[in-house]
Amino acid sequence: MRAYRLAVRLSAALAALAIVASGAAARTVDRLYVMDCGHNAASDQSRWSPGVNVGKPIELSDNCYLIRHGNEWLLWDTGYPDSVAAGPVTTPVGTATRAKTLVAQLAEVGVKPSDIRFVAVSHTHGDHVGNVDLFEQSTLLIQKAEFDWAFAPDKRPPFKADRPLRKLEGDLDVFGDGSVVVIATPGHTPGHQSLLVHLAKTGWVVLSGDAAHFKDNWDHRRVASMNTSAEQTQASYKRIADLLAEKKAQLWINHDKPQSLSQKRSPQFYD
Ligand SMILES: [Zn+2]
Repeated sequence: MRAYRLAVRLSAALAALAIVASGAAARTVDRLYVMDCGHNAASDQSRWSPGVNVGKPIELSDNCYLIRHGNEWLLWDTGYPDSVAAGPVTTPVGTATRAKTLVAQLAEVGVKPSDIRFVAVSHTHGDHVGNVDLFEQSTLLIQKAEFDWAFAPDKRPPFKADRPLRKLEGDLDVFGDGSVVVIATPGHTPGHQSLLVHLAKTGWVVLSGDAAHFKDNWDHRRVASMNTSAEQTQASYKRIADLLAEKKAQLWINHDKPQSLSQKRSPQFYD
C-alpha cells in the first residue's frame, strides 16, 4: 500500500515536472512592440547617478511595450500622459515631451484600449502610469507594496483606484505558460517590478522598468538618489543579473535612449 501510494505520488510529480518543462521550452508570446511613450531632457543626470556626472544633462527615452499573446494583449507601462503630446511639460527634473500619443500608436497596430486584457506597470511614477486611466476595463497588475505606497493618505493618487486590479505579492506567471512573468524587483520604489518575456525568434527579454535608469548605472550598479531602498536595489540588480545569465536574456532598459533608438519601434515588432 505504501509502495503504491509512493508510486502514485511519484508519477504525479513527474507529470507536473513534464508540464513545467514543456511549457518553459515551447511557450512564447507572438509579438512585442516598443512604443514611444515620451522623452525627458533632464538637467542633471547625477539625480540618478549620485556623485557622477554632476550637473551634466541627459536625454532619457520613455517606452511602453505592447505584447500580443494569442488573441490577448498586455501593455507594460503607459508612459507620460497623452496630454503631454499637446506641449512640453517642464519640472525641476527636466522637460518632458511626447511625439505621439499612446492611443494613436495603439491604433496604428489596430488595437483599442478596451482590447487590452492586462496593463502591468513597473511602478507608479508619473512617467510610467500617465495613461493608466485610459485602460479602465483592463486588469491592472501591480505589487501590493507599490499600491499601498502610492495610495498612502498623504499622497496624490497616481490614477483611479476604483478599477479592475490585481495586487501582487511577488512574481506572477501572467498567462500561466511561462511566456510572460512579472518579477518583483523592489528598490527604486517599494513595489517596483520587471517583466520577463519569451519570444520565439528574439528569445528572452527582461523589461527592467527603472531598476536601472540607463546602461551606465546598470554596469556600475548605482543606486539612484530617489530610490526607496539601496539594499533592495542591490538585491534586485542581482536577481536581474541571475535571470539574464540563466535565460541568456537581453536587458531592455526603458530610459536608456541610445538603446531605445537602436531598437525596432512600433509598428515594427519583435517576434
Ligand atoms: Zn521612469
